[in-house]
Amino acid sequence: MVEKLYFGPAGVPLSSPKKDIYNGIKYTYEELKLNGLELEFTYGVRMKDEAANNIKEYIKDKDFIITCHAPYFINFNAQEKTKLENSKKMLYESAKKTYLSGGISVAFHPAWYHKNSPEEVYKKARESIREVINKLIDENINIVIRPETMELKNKFGDIDEVINLSLDIDNVLPAIDFAHLRYRYNDNSIEFFRKILEKLESNLGREILDNMHIHMSGITLDSKGTHKILEESDMPWRDILRLLKEFNCKGIIISESPNVEEDAVRMKNYFEKL
Ligand SMILES: [Zn+2]
Repeated sequence: MVEKLYFGPAGVPLSSPKKDIYNGIKYTYEELKLNGLELEFTYGVRMKDEAANNIKEYIKDKDFIITCHAPYFINFNAQEKTKLENSKKMLYESAKKTYLSGGISVAFHPAWYHKNSPEEVYKKARESIREVINKLIDENINIVIRPETMELKNKFGDIDEVINLSLDIDNVLPAIDFAHLRYRYNDNSIEFFRKILEKLESNLGREILDNMHIHMSGITLDSKGTHKILEESDMPWRDILRLLKEFNCKGIIISESPNVEEDAVRMKNYFEKL
């Protein structure tokens, strides 16, 4: 269990002189004074075990959290069997490499609805996630799997769906992407975000509030929901940070803004003064 909120960039910081992940983490910790980083496996899991071991070795005596974002290609409602099997493999590989890196949490986008009903997709997602988790448990890979709240209404991942998966499967908790929630429910009021935290607490108790995996950025209200820099968006990020403080949330906030580390530093500085 973690004792506070950590802050980090999604992937190697843009300002890092060296672009490999090991040096990106070192730079994040030593130069930016951030205390977390999300491994971006979004376009594939290509990390070698040796690279993962080096990360684990580097962070072992530091107050630093590693998470990952699994590939965007995962779709547990894939209509083709090979795509479904590949989806399970990608989630498994993401979890394994993150665990070998000393990481604790894996965020992923569970599925598209396609022509299926949300109930059908829920069952399929649950079955596949269970299968992956059982394999991880068999191999003593102890890590939290996090279906993420999704922006588009044709993607599986509303707040209830990710909460229900957490209730149904051990080792599953939601990844809360505040920008996606703002987009999906078309609401950026502080009352809305308060209701989200209250809903998490009433369904999942302190377990979720003590173990948050949060994505934060602004978001464009176009058909794609492109991420934006916080200060150029309508995200009430300061209010959200105040809410997280009020609810005594612990865990990690990953900046997914286009300026990546800059917003992570901005949020950390603001939060520490609250
Ligand atoms: Zn995501």
